[in-house]
Amino acid sequence: FAKRAGECRQGGMMSYPIERVRADFPLLASEVNGQPLAYLDSAASAQKPQSVIDREAEFYSHEYAAVHRGIHTLSAQATSAMEAVREQVAAFINAASAEEIVFVRGTTEAINLVANSYGRTFIQPGDNLIITEMEHHANIVPWQMLAEARGVEVRVLPLAEDGSLDVAKLPGLLDERTRLLAVTQISNVLGALNPVKAMIAQAKAAGAVTLIDGAQSIMHQTVDVQDLDCDFFVFSGHKIYGPSGIGVLYGKRDLLQAMPPWEGGGAMIRQVSLRTGTTYADSPWRFEAGSPNTGGIMGLGAALDYVTALGREEIQRYESSLMQYALEALTQVPDLTLYGPAERHGVIAFNLGQHHAYDVGSFLDRYGIAIRTGHHCAMPLMEHYGVPSMCRASLAVYTTREEIDRLVAGLQRIHRLLGS
Ligand code: PMP
Repeated sequence: FAKRAGECRQGGMMSYPIERVRADFPLLASEVNGQPLAYLDSAASAQKPQSVIDREAEFYSHEYAAVHRGIHTLSAQATSAMEAVREQVAAFINAASAEEIVFVRGTTEAINLVANSYGRTFIQPGDNLIITEMEHHANIVPWQMLAEARGVEVRVLPLAEDGSLDVAKLPGLLDERTRLLAVTQISNVLGALNPVKAMIAQAKAAGAVTLIDGAQSIMHQTVDVQDLDCDFFVFSGHKIYGPSGIGVLYGKRDLLQAMPPWEGGGAMIRQVSLRTGTTYADSPWRFEAGSPNTGGIMGLGAALDYVTALGREEIQRYESSLMQYALEALTQVPDLTLYGPAERHGVIAFNLGQHHAYDVGSFLDRYGIAIRTGHHCAMPLMEHYGVPSMCRASLAVYTTREEIDRLVAGLQRIHRLLGS
């Protein structure tokens, strides 16, 4: 990428190689409904660069074997390759050690793991935990299930008037029975970037552990778990240009070590006896029962390589200039309601007049423009704003100003056709 720098310019952006980036993602060249695809749904799932696709194919073509159990060469090499990606993930989020990285299916499984293992062990009846009004269902429902099973109270940090989190209310929610704060770093609907570092410090001072949902932030921000000082950080591979079905739970070493396994089976044990019972492997392997998604792990490694080569600061600069462009361009659409705070990261949620988001999304699809419509797995947010659904356009490393222009033109056309 260093060599590519300077090759392309995008509307005044300093040397971000947008054309080359787009060429890395084969699917972006597709046509949808006879139109060139404008993929503005990366917050739901990002497209994959050829290097990720190739890495998985190469692994299955030349390197594949079961990991952890084999004495033969291929098995040992596949195990080393998998453990090398664990090291790579640790470096990517600046974890203190690879032993703090647990491979899971995704953000959802990571949160369920923490709720079931940490939650059921260290959170007692009468305790409370805090989530926020802008969480994805993945960071709500596992806590509600825990609350129901254990007699735990779920407290909710509300939104402020402007759609950001009302963080001033956090101290009022924390007390001596607060065991956990679970909060998203970036809202998948509003694009709000939450001040999680300060929130973590406050929760920690009150004696609570903290879980950061990084499903959205991982693709837009540089993440440093030691700087944040969170206890858990979770994300999904598919949102950072990697494969589906693979994700990461970061947990502080001592904490993971103190937690019981969640799922039992092969690969997570030290000794199994029908007479004396079972002892467990150390973390992180204690939390990885069964055969892992090794192809996905290799693809995740390639995705992190891709993002690192492109440069996370460059990505942030490019996306933030694109966001400014998009917000300005959208002011040309009549009857458009935007949701969330003025400063947005990665996503723009909106509704057009009184039209249902599905109608707007279906029209845009006819023009080849893919956006998200619905409740975005954040029904409490829909309730907050009093709407059944929203449209959401999201930005990624390969999004262009031309695609934003097409979105704006599409929305103007729908407004002309349908009225308010
Ligand atoms: N949290 C947030 C903020 C998300 O955006 C998502 C995915 N939309 C999730 C959690 C769940 O991620 P996954 O479906 O990959 O487990």
